[in-house]
Amino acid sequence: MTRFESPDFLRLDDLLAEEERLARDSVRDFVSREFLPLIQEYVRQDGAFPMQLVPRMAELGLFGANLTGYGCAGMNNVAYGLVMQELERGDSGLRSFASVQGGLVMYPIHTYGSETQKERWLPQLSSGRAIGCFGLTEPDFGSHASGLRTRAEKKGTKWVLNGSKRWITNGSVADVAIVWARTEDGLRGFLVERGLRGFEARDIKGKFSLRASITSELFLSDVEVSEESLLPGVSGMKGPLSCLTQARYGIAWGALGAAMACYDEVLRYAKERVVQGGPLAAKQIAQQRLVFMLTEITKGQLLALRVGRLKDQGELHHSMVSMAKMNNVDVALRIAREARDMLGANGIVDDYASMRHMMNLETVRTYEGTHDIHTLILGEHITGMRAL
Ligand SMILES: Cc1cc2nc3c(=O)[nH]c(=O)nc-3n(C[C@H](O)[C@H](O)[C@H](O)COP(=O)(O)OP(=O)(O)OC[C@H]3O[C@@H](n4cnc5c(N)ncnc54)[C@H](O)[C@@H]3O)c2cc1C
Repeated sequence: MTRFESPDFLRLDDLLAEEERLARDSVRDFVSREFLPLIQEYVRQDGAFPMQLVPRMAELGLFGANLTGYGCAGMNNVAYGLVMQELERGDSGLRSFASVQGGLVMYPIHTYGSETQKERWLPQLSSGRAIGCFGLTEPDFGSHASGLRTRAEKKGTKWVLNGSKRWITNGSVADVAIVWARTEDGLRGFLVERGLRGFEARDIKGKFSLRASITSELFLSDVEVSEESLLPGVSGMKGPLSCLTQARYGIAWGALGAAMACYDEVLRYAKERVVQGGPLAAKQIAQQRLVFMLTEITKGQLLALRVGRLKDQGELHHSMVSMAKMNNVDVALRIAREARDMLGANGIVDDYASMRHMMNLETVRTYEGTHDIHTLILGEHITGMRAL
C-alpha cells in the first residue's frame, strides 16, 4: 500500500521536529492499515464505533497524548495536533473518540483531580481499559451551557445528582462520566461511574453525521456519589471551558485531516475521470476548485502550527484556538462539499469518503462551540464588548 502523503505546499515538514513527524507517520499508517478498512462497515451501522481498536489506539499513545505521567505519552502539542489530523483523515468519529477521552476526560482529571482520582483513573484511561465521557450539554442548553440545570446537592457525606445530558459522545460505553452540575457553590465537576443506581445512558439513533461514533443521552435520577467523586481543583465555567479549549485545539488540526482526505480523493479522481474528451483535472473550473482546496489547507496548516507552537510555549489565548477551530472546520466543510460535487454521482456512495467527511464536519462545525459562538468569542476579543 502506498503511504498517504498529505499536501505540504509550503514545506511545513521542514518546520517539524523528527519526533513530531514520527508521531504523525505512525498514526497515519495505523489509520490506513487498521481503521480505513473498517469504516464503511461501521458507517453503515447507526452509531457504532470499532471498539476492538481501542487497545491499539492506547498502544500508540493516543489517549491523553499531550499529558504527562500516569501512562500518558507526553507529546508536545504540535505532535498531538498532527496525531489528531491523522485520526480525522480516517474519520471525525475516530478523532472524536481520542479527543473526548484525552481532552475532555483525562485533562480535567489530570488538571483538577485529587491524587487519588488521578492514580485511579488516568492509567486506566490512557491504556484504554476504561472509557470516559464528558457531560456538559443538556437538551435545553448547548451553546450557552452556563444555564444548565443538572443539580448536585450535598447530603451528609454524599452528593446527590439529578438532571439529564444530551449529545454525549461515548455516553453508553463510558466507565466514567465527567458530569458538570450546579451546586450551592456554583458549577462543579463530578466523576460518575457506570452502573450507579439511577444513572442511565441511551444512544441517539438516526444521525446522518458521525455515524461511526456513539452519541448518547444521560439520565441522572437521585444518583448518589461520594465526596471523593467531586473534582476538587475547579469551580465555575472555567472547568468545562478549559477542557473545551484542549479539545477545540485538537479539532483545529483534525478538520484539516478530513480536508486532506477529500482533496487527495478528488485530485486522484479528477486526473482519471474523463469528461468531454479529457480528464476532469484539465478543466479550468476543476482546477480552480483544486486550487481553492490546496490554498485553504495550506493556510489552515499555518494557523494550526502557529497556535500549536504558542501552546507549547505557554502563550496561547483561548481566542486563538477559537479562530483556528472556526476557520479550519469552515474550510474543511467547504472543501468536502466541493470534493463531493466533483465526484459527481459517485460522490454520494460510501465507496468514496468525501460525503462521509462532509456529513461528519456538519457535527464538527456544531460541537465544541458552534461557528457562530467562536465568531462571538473573537468579536468580543476584538471589541471588548459582549454581543447580545
Ligand atoms: C455528534 C455530537 C457529539 C457531541 N458530543 C458532546 C459531548 O461529548 N459532550 C457534550 O457536553 N456535548 C456534546 N455535543 C453537544 C454540542 O457541544 C452542542 O450541540 C453544541 O454546543 C451546540 O449546542 P446546541 O446543539 O444546543 O445548539 P444551540 O446552542 O441551540 O444553537 C443553535 C443555533 O443557534 C446559534 N446560536 C447560539 N447562540 C447564539 C447567539 N448568541 N447568537 C447567534 N447565534 C447563536 C448556534 O450557532 C446554532 O447555529 C455533541 C454534539 C453532537 C452533534
